[in-house]
Amino acid sequence: MGLSLKYLSAMSSSEPKLMLKPQFFYLSHAQNIVIFFPSSFYTFLQLIFAASFLPKPKRCRLVRTMASTPSAGGTKVQKSEEEWRTVLNPEQFRILREKGTEWAGTGQYNKHYDEGVYECAACGTPLYKSTTKFDSGCGWPAFFEGLPGAITETPDADGRRTEITCTACGGHLGHVFKGEGFKTPTDARHCVNSISLNFTPANK
Ligand SMILES: [Zn+2]
Repeated sequence: MGLSLKYLSAMSSSEPKLMLKPQFFYLSHAQNIVIFFPSSFYTFLQLIFAASFLPKPKRCRLVRTMASTPSAGGTKVQKSEEEWRTVLNPEQFRILREKGTEWAGTGQYNKHYDEGVYECAACGTPLYKSTTKFDSGCGWPAFFEGLPGAITETPDADGRRTEITCTACGGHLGHVFKGEGFKTPTDARHCVNSISLNFTPANK
C-alpha cells in the first residue's frame, strides 16, 4: 500500500507537467485527433512524444488504475489474528499462526502420494504439486520444491533453520533444509505440517 501510494503520488506530481501548457494541444474525444499548436520545434517534439503515450485523457486514467492495482501474483491475504481464529480450528491456528509443529508421523499427508495439488489450509493458495512430494522418512510431508513464488523462505532468528511460509497469507508451513543428500532434483526438503495443507486430487 505504501508503495502504491508513493507511486500514485509520483504519478500525480508528474501529470501536471503534461497539463501545464494546455494551449499547445487539443484532444478531440469524438474524432480521436490530436491537434498541436507548438511554440517551438522542441516543444513540438515533446508534445509528439507525450501524445504517443497519452492519446486521450481516458487512457491516462486507465494507466493510473492499473498501476494502483496489485498484480494477481502479489495479492496478499490479510486478516487480523482474531479473524484467523474464526476461520481456522484451534490446531490449525496453533501451527499456521503461532508457528507450531504437529507431532511427527501423525499428519494425514505424511504417507499420502495421490496425484494432485496441496494448497494452503488457511487461504487456499496452491503450494505444492504431488509430483514434487517424496518420502523423506522424517515423519512429515516432504517436497523438493514449491510452486513458483508460492513459498517464502525466512531464516530463523537463531540462524539454525529456515522457516517456510505461504507467500499469500504468511501462514507457517514448516522449514526447508538443503543439501542433505536426497536424490531429488533440488536436494531441498520442504518439511511441511500436514495441518497447514489441504489436498485436491488431480481428477477432481
Ligand atoms: Zn496461505
